[in-house]
Amino acid sequence: MVSVSFPYDAPVSQTLFDRASLVTPGGVNSPVRAFRAVGGTPRFMVSGTGPYLTDADGREYVDLVCSWGPMILGHAHPEVVGAVQEAVARGTSFGTPGEGEVALAEEIVARVAPVEQVRLVSSGTEATMSAIRLARGFTARSKVIKFAGCYHGHVDALLAAAGSGVATFALPDTPGVTGAQAGDTIVLPYNDLEAVQEAFHAHPGEIACVITEASPGNMGVVPPLPGFNQGLKDACAKNGALFVSDEVMTGFRTSRAGWFGVDGVVPDLMTFGKVMGGGFPAAAFGGRADVMGHLAPAGPVYQAGTLSGNPVATAAGLAQLRLLDEAAYAKVDAVSEEIQGLVTEALAKEGVAHRLQSASNMFSVFFTSREVRNYEDARKQEAFRFNAFFHSMLSDGVYLPPSAFESWFVSTAHDERAVERIAAALPAAARAAAEATA
Ligand code: PLP
Repeated sequence: MVSVSFPYDAPVSQTLFDRASLVTPGGVNSPVRAFRAVGGTPRFMVSGTGPYLTDADGREYVDLVCSWGPMILGHAHPEVVGAVQEAVARGTSFGTPGEGEVALAEEIVARVAPVEQVRLVSSGTEATMSAIRLARGFTARSKVIKFAGCYHGHVDALLAAAGSGVATFALPDTPGVTGAQAGDTIVLPYNDLEAVQEAFHAHPGEIACVITEASPGNMGVVPPLPGFNQGLKDACAKNGALFVSDEVMTGFRTSRAGWFGVDGVVPDLMTFGKVMGGGFPAAAFGGRADVMGHLAPAGPVYQAGTLSGNPVATAAGLAQLRLLDEAAYAKVDAVSEEIQGLVTEALAKEGVAHRLQSASNMFSVFFTSREVRNYEDARKQEAFRFNAFFHSMLSDGVYLPPSAFESWFVSTAHDERAVERIAAALPAAARAAAEATA
């Protein structure tokens, strides 16, 4: 149970939530939006401009979620909106090839060296699902290694995050995923190369791929230890498996070339989403041309989509990527660092045990004094303190991810004024975290 009080209400959001709950399970179209982890009324947003969101009750918030990553230029960026308006006026979907998707694919290939060919899809889930199918088709093997705490979308086989220890076959995490669907998934502790070697040793010739978040943000921000990604790559190469780096969250966010641009480890396949869609449903998977050549119609592994490469989504994505030059990343990195400093300062002042962890401009706060290297560490934090912190920030007009296990996101639009508002909200939130009880 959540032990915090909710300092003000949001009557219009509450009415909308009541209506939504009658016609939509839990009142939302993606579970974390329901505020179940933190309690209270989820805010129904009606508009966004730059770093701000406005809810149905007319309250404005500094947005530190940025639609869970995509809005790296802030909301309603005029050039992205313009590109979308132009595309919409030409028609919204043709079900044929079009120039926009070629241009977006070329942009991705130009930015991310390991991507020789890329296939566009509509969600990160589709991207990872398809990458896994391709890896299995290419290697003619069944098993997949994933890491506890890494999220790759709601792909049946990848929802198996339970189970610990070396080469433990995962139990499905959710009803509806059968033992058969999860049975070929091996879940290992993150940042543990020894566990990976042992799994390869225990299953010779059976492992199709290792999939990992390039730098995880779905258990809070838990960067790979030095050498971890390279170790995965080497273990895959040695054992005839593919190394699949999931850059749905980090791609085109942590640098021009995503996390690959930070650590330089060359995957066989990569997945993308979020930033590359400019706020629209566009995602992708790509990599080595010889592997991608196994996809239909070039090869035998089937994969398709009615709205794949949609002209409006590709126009939005392309407009956003073209604005993301080195100066833009420098700006996002700088504002992220500034906010991280303010959060640390406020929590330290109140004597709240915490760890601020970052991966380039992605960051999150763990309410623990110990370094967080994997999911087990992350779960040991005092999440009840986050809930108090969250509600205090919300009541003072700062919208944080409604869970202690998520990355915070900033944009080029987070200017001085937005940072000042965050700074003004932090002392009370830090106090609330200090005073919170389980
Ligand atoms: N992979 C990663 C690393 C993600 O963070 C997410 C979503 O948060 C996904 C895959 C799934 O993407 P989508 O929500 O677009 O299906």
